[in-house]
Formats: sequence, structure tokens, C-alpha cells
Amino acid sequence: MRRGLSVIVAVASTVACSASDAATATVENVFVAENPTSTGSPANPTTSAVPTTAAEPWTLVTKYSSIGESVEGRPIRVAHRIDLPGSELAPDDPRRIVVLVVGVIHGDELAGLDVIDELHDMSREMFADDPVLSAVDLWMIPSINPDGQFAFRRTNANLVDLNRNFPFDWGPIEEPGHWQYAGTGPASEPETRAFTAFVEDLRPDLTVWYHQDAFSIAPSNGPDGPVRAEYARRTGLPLEGVPGGTYTGVAATWQRKTFPDDTAFIVELGPTLAPGEARRHAEAILAVLPLLP
Ligand SMILES: [Zn+2]
Repeated sequence: MRRGLSVIVAVASTVACSASDAATATVENVFVAENPTSTGSPANPTTSAVPTTAAEPWTLVTKYSSIGESVEGRPIRVAHRIDLPGSELAPDDPRRIVVLVVGVIHGDELAGLDVIDELHDMSREMFADDPVLSAVDLWMIPSINPDGQFAFRRTNANLVDLNRNFPFDWGPIEEPGHWQYAGTGPASEPETRAFTAFVEDLRPDLTVWYHQDAFSIAPSNGPDGPVRAEYARRTGLPLEGVPGGTYTGVAATWQRKTFPDDTAFIVELGPTLAPGEARRHAEAILAVLPLLP
């Protein structure tokens, strides 16, 4: 559920969109939700793209498109805050700060969805009035594992732990049914391939991946160390690694090794979120941007 949203402009597209053209992806199905007075309509989708007067009761518009499909054919949706001033910057504009947030990769770890809700709900004015935030181009993938989320299961429909399936330092882990089963090979899963293709195009400066429930952030000796430390400080998470498990084929590691200039890290939320905690995480994402290497 997208709590508190006034308007959702949903663009369902089976086109494997590139980041640069996602905002203009083929519109196959457009609907406007939760605001019966909206001027948007399937017959005239462009009227719903931007609020037209200050009197209209919403402050943000988010466009959804699909980056691919899961094993069972569910769309892997990405939301783009097309109302933010940073979304207007050219891809090669040096001011542009591309931020990507992934709410769910393990289908039984859903607290990151609350952080994404907060990012949906942040006012456009907050971004427009700040010299750093006005350059933010904000993208959100609620879940790259919609099949696992549907089943409330860690793995995808092939019982693969997607966060062991990425094509850097991939190694076989156990068999289907094991909690860390890594798949039949690097990027064997459609969800993994959809994400790698999307990121190769979008090239986010910062990607944050939400998990549960170790309640920590792993420290880093690399250039992203200060970013992680500041995120931890602002959210109260201990800066420490997660013990146990095998960490090959991890998504954030693939990003860092493939694109050394980009920052990507995992945030392990706790078992539940306290009141206001999701908001603190959403704010922390924005607050660490000046520290990006
Ligand atoms: Zn996890």
C-alpha cells in the first residue's frame, strides 16, 4: 500500500525500459488512483503528469514503469519521482545525483516498503528549496522479488536467493530449498537480469538496499565509508557486519565492483520499525548525499 499518496500515475509497460527513456516509456495502461477529482484519464494521460494548479490537493506525482518480469510474470516496477527538479536534469549534467532505493529483495523482509512510502510522500518543495536535493533524480524499486513478496518467501519462484545470484563473485550455494541457494549460475534469474540491465543504464550514484532484520550497516574502509557511517549515525543503526552466511553474488557488491564510482550498500532494518523510523531512514538517504565520493 502507498499510504498517504494523493495521486499515483501508474504506467504499466512491458518494455524493458532504459533509465533515460523510462519517463517516456510506452504507455500501455495509465490510471490515476486515490483521487477521483484528478484530471488524469486513460484517454488523456498527459494531463495527469504534472499538477496544473497550486490548488490541486496533491504535492507529488510518481510514474511507474516496469524494468522486467519475475519468473511468474509479475512486473518488477520502478517508481520515478518525475515531479522533482532533479528529474529534469540532463543525464550528463554534472549536478545530477541519481538515487535508487530498493525496498525488497528478500520476499519476507518488507519493512523497506515503509521507507519507500516516505520517499513517495516527501514534498517537492523540500527538494526544490535545497541546493543538493534540487539535483536529486529519485528512483524507487519497491520490490525486485515480487514472486517472493507475494508468497512471503525469501527466495524467488525458483527458490533462488536473489541476493546470491548477481554476476560478480558468484558461487554455487547448496540446492533449492536452502535459504541461500544461489541459482544455477550467475544472473540465472530474470529478476537479477532485469536489475543489472536497468542499473547499467541508470547508473545510480547511490543505491540503498533494504533488508531485515539484523539491525546494522556494515562498515566500509572504502570511499563510501563516511556515507555509511553518517547513515548509521542518523538512523541509530550499529556500524557492524552481519555474522554468518555466505556472501557471494550479492547485488550491492556487484554494483560496487562493476561501477567503482558508484555507491551501493545494504541497510539491515530491525524486525519492526518504530514510529518515525521509516521517515528517519528516508531522510538519512538524502542527508548523506553530500558525502558521496
Ligand atoms: Zn535480506
